[in-house]
Amino acid sequence: MPRFAGNASMFRLPVSETADGVDAGIIGVPLDIGTSNRNGTRYGPRQVRAESVLVRPYNMATRAAPFDSFQVADLGDVALNPYNLSACIEIIEQHYSAVLENAVTPVSIGGDHTITLPILRAIARKHGPVALIHVDAHADVNDTMFGEPVAHGTIFRRAIEEKLVDPRSMFQIGLRATGYAAEDFDWARDQGVTVVQAEACWYKSLAPLMEEVRRLIGPDQPAYLSFDIDGLDPSVAPGTGTPEPGGLTGSQGLEIIRGCYGLNLIGCDLVEVSPPYDTTGNTALLAANLLFEMLCALPACKRRI
Ligand code: MN
Ligand code: MN
Repeated sequence: MPRFAGNASMFRLPVSETADGVDAGIIGVPLDIGTSNRNGTRYGPRQVRAESVLVRPYNMATRAAPFDSFQVADLGDVALNPYNLSACIEIIEQHYSAVLENAVTPVSIGGDHTITLPILRAIARKHGPVALIHVDAHADVNDTMFGEPVAHGTIFRRAIEEKLVDPRSMFQIGLRATGYAAEDFDWARDQGVTVVQAEACWYKSLAPLMEEVRRLIGPDQPAYLSFDIDGLDPSVAPGTGTPEPGGLTGSQGLEIIRGCYGLNLIGCDLVEVSPPYDTTGNTALLAANLLFEMLCALPACKRRI
């Protein structure tokens, strides 16, 4: 079948109703009612799947061969209620709790970043508090937004408060731009989180940073990777709701994900792709490639030598 034809499942994988027998499962979470400004991420999973037909099965840089290593399937989308954010949060947590009754690693396509909170609630119930690698332009540690405790900019404060994440094993990479107060990034620092602002990443390889991340987290602690596409610069990822100048390059994004190989990665997500702002499709295409790199970074992924 030519790549432009057939059903556009993620990476043209088989679609499975169940996670039984699946090692790594792609799950779409088409949410955008957790956003504070520009929306459109509800179309993210479908668009990332459409662009993913360009991704081929072998990683030429790392020689990783995820489809030789695992049973990977597209597990479809979570059936959300587009009128009710708190209902969506419940639905997502229940969905992931059911999926995680199987020995499957969930690899999620957002959706706005709010999805990560209910996913982490389900993950932490199974694995305990996890180490977290969080790539983003934003800290997402607001106490509330418009008085709401759960929105895309509050999730990591909730995750730390609820002990879903071990803050001493948490790394926020790519934070930048303008804030509401000069102390906006300090709440996380005060909890023990390592905050690596974008300026500290400019003009250099992030491989040494990831070496440090692996050393501090270690190979055993369950670790989760949450990748907000707006962590990357708008020049490579304009199709998102809250773009910020001065971000990470595409290759630095690859280095971060490749640098997670060696961790006990038990789940990951790629969030905040907003197709209405992605006029070329390149943001969704980049997202598809980053999701492929996540499969390549899973602990048992074989490398061809
Ligand atoms: Mn975010
Ligand atoms: Mn963000």
